[in-house]
Amino acid sequence: MKRGLLIVLSGPSGVGKSTAVAEVMKHQPNLQFSVSATTRPMRPGETEGKSYYFMDRSRFETLRDGGELLEWAEYVGNYYGTPAAPVDEALDAGVDILLDIEPVGAMQVKEKRPEAILIFLAAPSFGELERRLTGRGDTPPDKIASRLEKAKWEYTQAPAYDYIVVSDLVERTADRIESIMKAEKCRAERQLDLLKED
Ligand code: ADP
Ligand code: 5GP
Repeated sequence: MKRGLLIVLSGPSGVGKSTAVAEVMKHQPNLQFSVSATTRPMRPGETEGKSYYFMDRSRFETLRDGGELLEWAEYVGNYYGTPAAPVDEALDAGVDILLDIEPVGAMQVKEKRPEAILIFLAAPSFGELERRLTGRGDTPPDKIASRLEKAKWEYTQAPAYDYIVVSDLVERTADRIESIMKAEKCRAERQLDLLKED
């Protein structure tokens, strides 16, 4: 059985990552979302165990120090990290898995798993990013300012990714991500079994 694809998606807060992922998942039944651990408070509409595993700092530190996280980072005052076991289980079972994580964590994944496919989602413009972040209506104004400041730094990390995708129309954005997945599945090193004689 072929291993699943390990896809890492990053991009500034509010650019449309969750929206794009939900759209991609409508068409990709073999794609699993990696549920992260976080110390940030739950937002309206989020579900424990589906959006995140919400926890306090000491529980997070126990997981991290016990080596249970594939990567972790601090983002605007909170910890975020990817539990390693579900990622390995999915890949071993031939299931594609997508991590929605920020660049410090993305680089840790690339280091540990060089086969990871890194996609950076960019907004059509900085003004549009601000409009989306404000329009979501669930982030206090002081947090919006710090997330926009963080976005400037995140853009400086984008050249280290394998792909940069613009988040314009939702359907088009999802289609671009799915095109990358299709192309990655056709990589020669994944297809060598086709060349074997019977
Ligand atoms: P992220 O997961 O990157 O923080 P979200 O997916 O939560 O971003 O999107 C932030 C806000 O922008 C939401 O209100 C969402 O409805 C809106 N949005 C997301 N993608 C688009 C898009 N492609 N075009 C216009 N608005 C969008
Ligand atoms: P949010 O609080 O808006 O859900 O996420 C804030 C940022 O944390 C986003 O850039 C998101 O991609 C990132 N993030 C979410 N989960 C993880 C994780 O497990 N690890 C890392 N490094 N970043 C994460």
